[in-house]
Amino acid sequence: MIIKRFTVNPFQENTYVVSVDSGETMIIDPGFYTANEENAFVNYLETNGLNPTILVNTHLHIDHVLGNAFLEKRFGLRAFAHAGDGFWLEGLEAQARMFGLPMRGPKPSIGLYIREGDKVSLGKETFEVLEVPGHSPGSIVLYNRAQGCLFAGDVLFEGSVGRTDFTAGDHGVLIKGITEKLLTLPDETVVYSGHGPSTTIGKEKTGNPYL
Ligand SMILES: [Zn+2]
Ligand SMILES: [Zn+2]
Repeated sequence: MIIKRFTVNPFQENTYVVSVDSGETMIIDPGFYTANEENAFVNYLETNGLNPTILVNTHLHIDHVLGNAFLEKRFGLRAFAHAGDGFWLEGLEAQARMFGLPMRGPKPSIGLYIREGDKVSLGKETFEVLEVPGHSPGSIVLYNRAQGCLFAGDVLFEGSVGRTDFTAGDHGVLIKGITEKLLTLPDETVVYSGHGPSTTIGKEKTGNPYL
């Protein structure tokens, strides 16, 4: 399994491109905003012979969905996401206005609602869906038990946790979810966050001032 990170858009959001030997590829949180960002991604796919088959959003804040419409148009991909964040997508234009960001392209659509207990398959790889709300009500984490890694969206960062001052945010719920569902995973589990560098569960357990 190969994980490629693109850091994109004015929010410096991490878009992850996860591929397996067969060339099947999952995109997590496409934040592509400029043509250059889209081209760098397409070049990467073409250079490596990759075929995008799955699109997952860890949550539906604007910085994580800016590239959804492009993936839908170009590859016919419709996102997997949690229904709890549907209202963020409904209000996408309002989110864009709030951040002074012109919207490009049509509003993306959801292909499948996923929730705790669901599994997303990519070739022989399996990603378990964990619900960890608080940063947003529909925030999910994708956990690959066999590979010992997870995609955390804006739930957990190196030395920090997701902000909870947005609509429907809840700091207590976030900390409880991280403590019960993420800190109980093996220490060596690699955490790929929606912003900033990757970290591990063990590092955050001992060094994260919010936990
Ligand atoms: Zn967010
Ligand atoms: Zn974000």
